[in-house]
Amino acid sequence: MHYGSYRYTRATIDLDKLTDNYIRMKELLSPKTKFMGVIKADAYGHGAVEVGRHLESQNIDFLAVAVLDEAMELREAGVKSPILLLSPIEPDTIPTAIKNDISITVFSDEIAGKVKHSAESLQKKAKIHLKVDSGMARIGVRSREEAARLSRTMTSEWVEFEGIFTHFAEAENTEDPTYTKHQFDFFMDIVNDLKDQGIYFDLTHCSNTAATLLYPEYHLDMIRTGISLFGYHPDKSLEDKIDLQPVMRLSTHAAYVKKVEEGTTIGYGRTFTAAEEKTIATILLGYADGIPRELSNRWYLTTDDHKAPIVGRICMDQLMVDVSDIPGFNKDTELVFIGDPKKGHPSIYKMADLTDSFHYEILCGIGKRVPRVYY
Ligand code: PLP
Repeated sequence: MHYGSYRYTRATIDLDKLTDNYIRMKELLSPKTKFMGVIKADAYGHGAVEVGRHLESQNIDFLAVAVLDEAMELREAGVKSPILLLSPIEPDTIPTAIKNDISITVFSDEIAGKVKHSAESLQKKAKIHLKVDSGMARIGVRSREEAARLSRTMTSEWVEFEGIFTHFAEAENTEDPTYTKHQFDFFMDIVNDLKDQGIYFDLTHCSNTAATLLYPEYHLDMIRTGISLFGYHPDKSLEDKIDLQPVMRLSTHAAYVKKVEEGTTIGYGRTFTAAEEKTIATILLGYADGIPRELSNRWYLTTDDHKAPIVGRICMDQLMVDVSDIPGFNKDTELVFIGDPKKGHPSIYKMADLTDSFHYEILCGIGKRVPRVYY
């Protein structure tokens, strides 16, 4: 299928803005701190292959994805940068990761044993990052003893201890940093304890975007950030910490414009009734493209200067907007759903609040059917 060739609707991805965000984040680091760009979930909806290639061209040190399919997609597209798999690998696929130089997150006996065995049978070095659960309770070793035991199990000339890491549960909570501090201390105790036992990992890392912005002392050997690359803060409350530019602009044009008379009801369930004559535009964006249906009758798209409120229920592939108050509106007028709030476009933070969602979720949810266009 030729996604994008035949549609007005598109997500335009501005790679210069990606570079700017990358450089601004990099400016927060000391020269010795490396940068891992997290581009899982198709680079938070922006397209992992193009984003990965672009970050590689900017000499990023490391990339991270969640699952092996994502890592293989990057390798098959010619991305050569080191790539870490953040989520648990399916044990049967460990040899594929090793053959393709993909670093593996290790935290269980099953994965540790299989990594060592596969690397030795392939006679190819496996690169591993030991994951410490310091308080997220998702994955990771949970004690010094477990960390030391697992590290010893893996010791082999065919296993490279490339990294050790942890992940914060609420680094963005500036009102009460106690838990984050506790997580950091717990993690560092394990790192230091391993060192005391002669077990060394090259890269110690823990900072997502929030921790990178709030705690320079947590940058360690490498930061591991995603959302900031795409121009958003992990929480709106951190907006004053750094100026970032949204990389994606999701926009469309009207496919059909008509006048409806007073009393006309619009869409499924007839949830909107025109109180007077209105000009209604039908646009090719729907919940199958990732537009939350809860935004029906509660949200809007914008031209550069005006709002176009969504009227009636959002359908699978289309929605209707009221363009009565937009002077000169026609089928060439661009309507923006995600863009730059500083230019008056809708704010995805507010959109997320309204739908009891999260701006990360909205970005990741933009459907495959929406073409990504890069410039
Ligand atoms: N590290 C891990 C393990 C993650 O799961 C994520 C994202 O969810 C990140 C780093 C990046 O976080 P952020 O996008 O907030 O920078």
